[in-house]
Amino acid sequence: MATKRDYYEILGVSKTATDDEIKKAYRTLAKKYHPDLNKDPDAPKKFEEVQEAYDVLSDKQKRANYDQFGHSAFDQNGNSFEGANFFNNGEFDINDIFSNFFGGGSFNFQRSRAQSNAPQKGQSRLVNLKIDFMDSIFGKTISFPLDMDVECSHCHGTGAKDPSSVKTCPTCNGSGTVKQRTNIFSGFSIRETECPTCHGKGKIYSENCSYCKGKGYTTEKQTISVNIPAGIQDGQQLRVAGKGFRGVNGGPYGDLYINISVKEDPNFQRRGNDIFVKVPISVCDLILGTTLTVPTVYGDYQVNVKAGTKVDAKLRLAGKGVKTAYGTGDEYVILDCIVPTNLTSEQTELLTKFSNIENNKSSTKNIFAKFFDKFKKKK
Ligand SMILES: [Zn+2]
Ligand SMILES: [Zn+2]
Repeated sequence: MATKRDYYEILGVSKTATDDEIKKAYRTLAKKYHPDLNKDPDAPKKFEEVQEAYDVLSDKQKRANYDQFGHSAFDQNGNSFEGANFFNNGEFDINDIFSNFFGGGSFNFQRSRAQSNAPQKGQSRLVNLKIDFMDSIFGKTISFPLDMDVECSHCHGTGAKDPSSVKTCPTCNGSGTVKQRTNIFSGFSIRETECPTCHGKGKIYSENCSYCKGKGYTTEKQTISVNIPAGIQDGQQLRVAGKGFRGVNGGPYGDLYINISVKEDPNFQRRGNDIFVKVPISVCDLILGTTLTVPTVYGDYQVNVKAGTKVDAKLRLAGKGVKTAYGTGDEYVILDCIVPTNLTSEQTELLTKFSNIENNKSSTKNIFAKFFDKFKKKK
């Protein structure tokens, strides 16, 4: 297929266009190129192009896939797999990956040339893969089993018991299609449809291969290995070429898309390439200052907490975030101030003494005086 035009370019909108802008552009162009209104010979093609671009850009998930992968997010006919649904299909672990495979029926695949027996690339296939937080940070090679249809070794994909039992289909003479004549009020129209005898194969067999029961392929478990790159984010997809569904009439396999979901970590939270971690600290350590041992994804680090650090302070550990090809993030340590309860009488006595001294300092008095001054003026 010739290089496809960019969907944004077709609709004449920017990559950051809002849903409304896309809808408006589509309406204008659909009206302009509608074959009933525009008699230009190129109009039907342009109309179809506009429809296809709108179909993708008006769908949040399809648009995200397109932004990330371009036209390769879709099959060779420009049809996408049903993007909107698979993300909501629940989460699962590498161990129960089989339960989440999608059969061919899950894909919104309109095969416009399905009636011919020309080789066609197989459909895209999507699996969900849930990975550990640490594996998303450092990357990992993950292997999992996948049921793949492979050519039957007995009949070499023909489905016939032996070569002599393969015959050219007498109904369609091997073309796989038949012409159907329909009478319409102004005459008749001729339409090509799939041959009812050979179902598009162009061949019939007097005896089926007993090994594959005439299907021409068998299903076997293959091990798929995929390199998860360091720094991958929840919701990103990886493509494994040639591991989708088998092609039709000797066409190549479709591609496999792996949707990555990252398990939550009890300590670390990721935002972009930065990592946030909450660390408990006693109120006295905030007042007096201390050295804290804090976890990072690269191991424990010691950080100095200065005397008089505020309750909601965030300490930044430069370069201790996620390292990706596009840069490295930082870690932010959020100090979670612990206010002691169940004080002993000695603690209460000491704190009361501390409080009295503190409240009688002129600098402290000034803070409260200033506040109440403003407060009175407002009244
Ligand atoms: Zn066979
Ligand atoms: Zn036929």
